[in-house]
Amino acid sequence: MFGAPGSGKGTHGRILGTIPGFYHCACGDVFRTLRPDTELGKVFLEYSSRGKLVPDEPTIELWRKTISGSTQMGHFHPDNDTLVLDGIPRDLRQAEILSDTLNVIAVFYLTSAKRENLVARLQRRALKDNRLDDANLDVIRQRLVIYEKETRPVLDFYGKKLVHNINTDSSPPETFLRILKLVVKLKNK
Ligand code: ADP
Repeated sequence: MFGAPGSGKGTHGRILGTIPGFYHCACGDVFRTLRPDTELGKVFLEYSSRGKLVPDEPTIELWRKTISGSTQMGHFHPDNDTLVLDGIPRDLRQAEILSDTLNVIAVFYLTSAKRENLVARLQRRALKDNRLDDANLDVIRQRLVIYEKETRPVLDFYGKKLVHNINTDSSPPETFLRILKLVVKLKNK
C-alpha cells in the first residue's frame, strides 16, 4: 500500500489483511507499539512528532524483528501468505535494503486529486486515534513535504509495471472494491 499520509493506505491495508492468505503489517503501527521509555520508542517520538522519518537502519531492524516474530508465532506464513505492506519501504534506501527480502507483486498507489482531503482525514484521525503527529497543521505539512521528497521516489524504484493507481476520492467501499478487483486479477495471473 503506497500513498501520502492520510491517503487511506492503513484503512484499506487492514481490511485486505483480514482476508485469509493475506497479512497486513503497518510500519507506523509497529512503531506505536514501542514503549515511550525505550531507546527506539524515544527515537520514534522524537522524529514522528516533527513529521520526520525515523532513520533507516533502526526502522529496518525493527521491521525484520516484527516480521520474524509474526512468522514464529504462526500469524504470518511467508511461503503462502501475501504480505500487505504499509508505510515501508518509505524512502529509496529502505527500498534498496529490502530488495533482497521482498518479492513485490504490486504497488497500490492511493491517489487523491484533492490535497485538502488528505489534510481533513489526518485531522479527523488525530482526534479519533489520539495521534500527536496529526494534531498539528505544521507537522502535517512537514509530513506531506517529506512524503513528496523522500517517499514518492520509491514509485519510480518499483516502476510502472508494478504500480497501480487507485483514486480515493470516491467512498471507502468504492475505493476498496477497486483494490479488491486488482487483487483478484493479480492472483489469477
Ligand atoms: P501515515 O499513515 O500518516 O503516513 P504512519 O502511521 O505510517 O503514518 O507513520 C507514522 C510515523 O512513523 C511517520 O511519520 C514516521 O515518523 C514513522 N515511520 C513509519 N514508518 C516508517 C518508515 N518506514 N521509515 C521511517 N519512519 C517511519
